[in-house]
Amino acid sequence: MTASQRRRFDPETALRPAIHALPGYQGVEDLATVAAEYGVDPASVIKLDGNENPYGPAPKVLEVLRQGFPVHQYPDAEQRKLRRALGLHLGVDPASVVVGAGSDELIELLFRLFVDTGDRIVTASPTFGMYGFDGHLHGAEVVDVPLNDDWSFDTEAFLAAAASARAVFIPSPNNPTGALMPESLIDQVLATGALLVVDEAYIEFAHRESLAKRAAGEPGLVVLRTFSKWGGIAGLRIGYGVMAPAIVNLILRAKQPYNVGIAAEMAALATLEDVAVLDDRACVIAGERDRMGKALRALGWIEPSPSEANFLLCRVTRFNGRDVRDALRRRGVFVRYFDTPRLRDHIRFSMGTPDQNTQVLAAFESVARELEVAK
Ligand code: PMP
Repeated sequence: MTASQRRRFDPETALRPAIHALPGYQGVEDLATVAAEYGVDPASVIKLDGNENPYGPAPKVLEVLRQGFPVHQYPDAEQRKLRRALGLHLGVDPASVVVGAGSDELIELLFRLFVDTGDRIVTASPTFGMYGFDGHLHGAEVVDVPLNDDWSFDTEAFLAAAASARAVFIPSPNNPTGALMPESLIDQVLATGALLVVDEAYIEFAHRESLAKRAAGEPGLVVLRTFSKWGGIAGLRIGYGVMAPAIVNLILRAKQPYNVGIAAEMAALATLEDVAVLDDRACVIAGERDRMGKALRALGWIEPSPSEANFLLCRVTRFNGRDVRDALRRRGVFVRYFDTPRLRDHIRFSMGTPDQNTQVLAAFESVARELEVAK
């Protein structure tokens, strides 16, 4: 081969077209990095920007993690033990349950199974970013039907879009608004023949029963749940889905065999032995959400949306969202700001412990004084 015949691999031209236009996913920023940037002690940060659980894992999880387990062996690819335990926990047949490395992985697996290049998926923004991200990753057409200004659905437009879609992704409660999907809309979407994925990452904090039992017997409905919020083990990456056994079998066929690590599996099993503790904590968190909502509204410049989740989305009426986020960061309170046109005057933050929340309230008051002077 002569030098002129030699060709060289070029990642840019070889890239799949769908990836060229992929907007990167904006995840939660790294605590240590932000703390260093704002000159605060990472150990004293009140971290409310990832909708995590301020209490951490259940006591039995900490015990199991301390005891150790056979990390030199692969976990069970068919997740039998965990699916059995989840079946019992949810009151469904284990054949209708499957586990992923976070519910994030299950979202991606649903695309792998059902959404081909050019297929349509429907979302309703503002919403969780992974549906659009995975949609673009798979070359799907992502049709967004924005929520109304009060964060309710534009029902007519939404159903019209669903009618020509392969799949519809709705978190209930929604992230970041905190609102539940209306029950009547669920039936209407199912009647379009699209796959309806109801993402119940925050359902344990809501005044609403999970749709898990219904999903086990209804092929058009998939319910996603997670151990990241209620379970307090976001860092271990484990979530699950409830759906018709036929879809579970397809996922078992198409997933990476050892998608859930053994530490996550052991922690999830231990979590399911400590349900009462976690339910009590969820109850405290939901109560704190309501207390904080009232207290913040009383400040006069913060308007929290009604929320059924472990967080509040707040409109700030006197300042902009980024300035409030930055001023809170300087005080060691980390909240989430979204740089999108509809959320520029908003921040979102999850609940800390009651003591932390009281400190957060004081931080908000101090922020208002600072920003007022700077005006
Ligand atoms: N769904 C929603 C609505 C979420 O807000 C999140 C986490 N931010 C997830 C899914 C991801 O959960 P997991 O940690 O199980 O991947």
